[in-house]
Amino acid sequence: MEHRALSRLAAPAVAALLALTTGCTGSAVQGRPGASGLRDPYFPKAGNGGYQVDHYELDLDYDPADGRLHGTAVITARAEQGLSAFNLDLSGLEVEEVTVQGAGARYNRSGNELTVRPAEDLEKGEVFRTEVDYSGKPKALTDADGAKEGWITTGDGAVGVGEPVGSMTWFPGNHHPSDKAAYDITLTVPKGYEAVSNGELRSRTTRPDGRTAFAWHSPEPMASYLATAVVGKYEVATGRTPSGVPLYNAVAPGEAAASAAKLARLPEMVEWAGARFGPYPFGTAGAIVLPAGSLTYALETQTRPVFSGAPSSEELVLHELAHQWFGDSVSPASWKDMWLNEGFATYAEWLWTEDHGGPTAQEHFDAFLTGDTEVDAEAGSDWYAFAPAAPPGPEDISGDPVYHRGAMVLHRIRQEVGDEKFSALLGGWAAEHRHGNATTAAFTAYAQEKTGHDLKKVWDVWLYGQARPR
Ligand SMILES: [Zn+2]
Repeated sequence: MEHRALSRLAAPAVAALLALTTGCTGSAVQGRPGASGLRDPYFPKAGNGGYQVDHYELDLDYDPADGRLHGTAVITARAEQGLSAFNLDLSGLEVEEVTVQGAGARYNRSGNELTVRPAEDLEKGEVFRTEVDYSGKPKALTDADGAKEGWITTGDGAVGVGEPVGSMTWFPGNHHPSDKAAYDITLTVPKGYEAVSNGELRSRTTRPDGRTAFAWHSPEPMASYLATAVVGKYEVATGRTPSGVPLYNAVAPGEAAASAAKLARLPEMVEWAGARFGPYPFGTAGAIVLPAGSLTYALETQTRPVFSGAPSSEELVLHELAHQWFGDSVSPASWKDMWLNEGFATYAEWLWTEDHGGPTAQEHFDAFLTGDTEVDAEAGSDWYAFAPAAPPGPEDISGDPVYHRGAMVLHRIRQEVGDEKFSALLGGWAAEHRHGNATTAAFTAYAQEKTGHDLKKVWDVWLYGQARPR
């Protein structure tokens, strides 16, 4: 195909060719290329400049037998500048065709960047539709901290997870948390397999050839790292929370018995968190339990967190649920702000045990100060190794200080302002940035304004201070 042939040309040759083409069209719009990254402090090439995505429509056909994925991604976005070209992030896989506004577009690939050059420049403010057809065997990525993410094969299927950048292994997109969008993900799988993603299952259609298409709909904005796709043999259970949030759980059969008691508390947890943090931010909830050993972590994929094997504790289920407010609804503006996810979700665990006959948040806090692992098994971690708002590098964004010292920051605020104001702060923060993004600076400013307290010492010592706080 023409597009494929062009994509093999060296970049300068493409640029020269395109310069010529642009000159010939006499287009009134003078676009320039969008940036190839958003200059995230830890992942500078993640995401792309010049546009914001409104909606992803992903049609993914996956066969666990040969590990091949065929995908069509229809990306509806708004140009934030005149664009002669723009990038999508995509790792591996073969791009077969790209169209923009229905017309064939030239493209080329370099590393994880797919550069698309529409036939006509896009105007600032224009809403445009890009379709990418692609296929291949998607692969996992190994993060700076050694964890695997992206498309990962499981016992009898696969899972797509993407924190921080792995979603580019299974669909092209603007893969940075600052660009959130609605999603429709349709997964087509062989007969007898389940396919689970975020949001609401709109339809399940078996085709004449026996393959089944599962159409999942996520109307609320979602950061791409929170998208998931799970294929395999699963036991599905549906229900509702007492206040009516629909639940959809998918559990690997071998993990069903060990998961049952913990997942049974999910409806109550949704209600408890709603009372603590404000209304549940999404239209659906649930959990996905993968075969044991699929991942080395659990992830708060939006509306439906994934667990690798039966959740190890009730607190873990609560932690991933709390992320639905802190991380999923209120998403970090950059990966430097990760403590806004993990510090809050960890503190939610402390609040849960406090409200349910376990250690109080104060006892957890004290356990970390003294290293008392009898009260909190994680208290022996090096929670003081760096400042939670300033992880030294990309390998540290999921480090202990981000979680535990992050939670301790929140407890120090609570000590300063008292329970009532602290409670109002947590709910207020979730409401203030509902379905949006936030920076650490926005939080510190908001906390001071909302509580009326000068919290500078807490920020200096606990949030930004390098020394071990005492
Ligand atoms: Zn977490």
